[in-house]
Amino acid sequence: MDHVIPLSMGGSNDSTNLALACFHCNRRKGRAQEAIEPESGEKVALFNPRLDTWRQHFRWSEDYLHLIGITPTGRVTIETLALNRERIIGIRAADYAVGRHPPLEDIHPIKPD
Ligand SMILES: [Zn+2]
Repeated sequence: MDHVIPLSMGGSNDSTNLALACFHCNRRKGRAQEAIEPESGEKVALFNPRLDTWRQHFRWSEDYLHLIGITPTGRVTIETLALNRERIIGIRAADYAVGRHPPLEDIHPIKPD
């Protein structure tokens, strides 16, 4: 099975070990593969795009501007990568305004009355 192992931790530069990330997220993540969840004090694995399913760990706020972690992995990943930082919220809002956010498959189902 493929894992995204940081180069500094012995991972390879092969495409099967790489994940697309912007410079800022990549810098925040660094070599970390896990982080401490504040509530529990437990060491928790960061979201691994090669092993984990996005929807099992994250959902969007009602207005789609904030990412919400629904598991310990989701929460520590948001915290570690600062995925709700002001700059990203601004980008999400601008993308929302022109229909580029959220991804179609993430649109909340319309709630029955
Ligand atoms: Zn990023």
